[in-house]
Amino acid sequence: MRPLNRAVAAIPPSGIRRFFDLAAARPDVISLGIGEPDFVTPWRIREAAIYAVEQGHTTYTANSGIPELRRLIARYCDARDGVTYNPDNEIVVTAGVSEALDLALRAITEQGDEVILFEPCYVSYGPCVTIAGGVPVAVSTQAEEGFAIAPDRVRAAITSRTKAILLCSPGNPTGAVQPGPILKQLVDIAVEHDLYVISDEIYSRLVYGVPHTCVAGIPGARERTILLNGLSKSMAMTGWRVGYACAPEPITSLMLKIHQYTTLCAPHVSQMAAIEALRNGEAETEKMVAAYDVRRRYLSSALTDAGLPCPAPDGAFYVFPSIEPTGLRSDEFAERLLEEAGVAVVPGSVFGPSGEGHVRCSYAAPFPALEQAVRRIRQFTRQLADRRSDRRRQGIAVANRGGSCTPVAELSGKGRSATCE
Ligand code: PLP
Repeated sequence: MRPLNRAVAAIPPSGIRRFFDLAAARPDVISLGIGEPDFVTPWRIREAAIYAVEQGHTTYTANSGIPELRRLIARYCDARDGVTYNPDNEIVVTAGVSEALDLALRAITEQGDEVILFEPCYVSYGPCVTIAGGVPVAVSTQAEEGFAIAPDRVRAAITSRTKAILLCSPGNPTGAVQPGPILKQLVDIAVEHDLYVISDEIYSRLVYGVPHTCVAGIPGARERTILLNGLSKSMAMTGWRVGYACAPEPITSLMLKIHQYTTLCAPHVSQMAAIEALRNGEAETEKMVAAYDVRRRYLSSALTDAGLPCPAPDGAFYVFPSIEPTGLRSDEFAERLLEEAGVAVVPGSVFGPSGEGHVRCSYAAPFPALEQAVRRIRQFTRQLADRRSDRRRQGIAVANRGGSCTPVAELSGKGRSATCE
């Protein structure tokens, strides 16, 4: 047989998927692994969809989406993001932000173009850049800096092949909200080097006590920015597959070409549901955000108490505690937590090398499940610590007998294998 697409064959399967599969095999597992709301889509939205089906809204729609939906998206961007788009030719309704991201990358990337992204990041970014023919260039962000983007590191990563910057605030997996002044500096860099900006703002509504800055609204940004957003997270609508991209017409016209030849249109019924969500869903989002906020505070302080330092991030529905005190690598930690304590979390390493030393815990789970998970995690970390001190004592005893075994206390930090534990 002739070779299949080598670039695609070389992309590793998602590390998150593997953990879902492991967790699914055990019915007693509490999952903090999943990146989707635990709420069902609000009833008024479901009801609007049922009515749409009754009314026979079962056909294709305009390729770029139902005009009324595009009008509502434009109104939303104007009111909440402070940026104006023409619903006739600057908005494309897509099958989730996932499709919008793919369209954006394919519209701007040519073979070998480099796209800067910020690690740890959403697992799809690197593979989607590769699939579009580009080369992902990772710029790391650090826990000690609150996972804020360092503009100097961005400048250092720019080459003559750099075409775009892909960013996400609030971010997955860290929950970090990039401060406005940093976003402004990024826009300045994009202008200076004539780069496109793809801004994934899918978590824009999930912010806690801090404002969301829409990148396209920053002076100088609009003409080179593709704004991606959708209803999956803010309206608990992951399964409906509705998102959108907003950009100047020269960009959306290319995106629309790809969309019309590959997808035709986002699902009609889902677009009808999205119309209801944008017209009347605000109070529902606010209720969910208030619930997430309570869980966010609880989980970050409970994990810190359990020995996993965990500052409370300002956005999304993830916390990203450090597991370094355990001495385990993140994949070892997650695997053992699943095996020994029945709690599923996602190893930080699946979000890029700079995610090592952390795990992602989603608080899009009911409060009692979070409490139960914390009890199990506390017991797990306590057992690890006990075993560590036993080893330390044995190590000292061996050392006192003149043996050559290294006390565990001297083996610290990343890269320590589970067999040392
Ligand atoms: N972007 C980010 C950062 C995400 O975390 C996700 C889903 O987890 C998506 C995009 C995909 O969103 P959608 O369901 O709208 O395709």
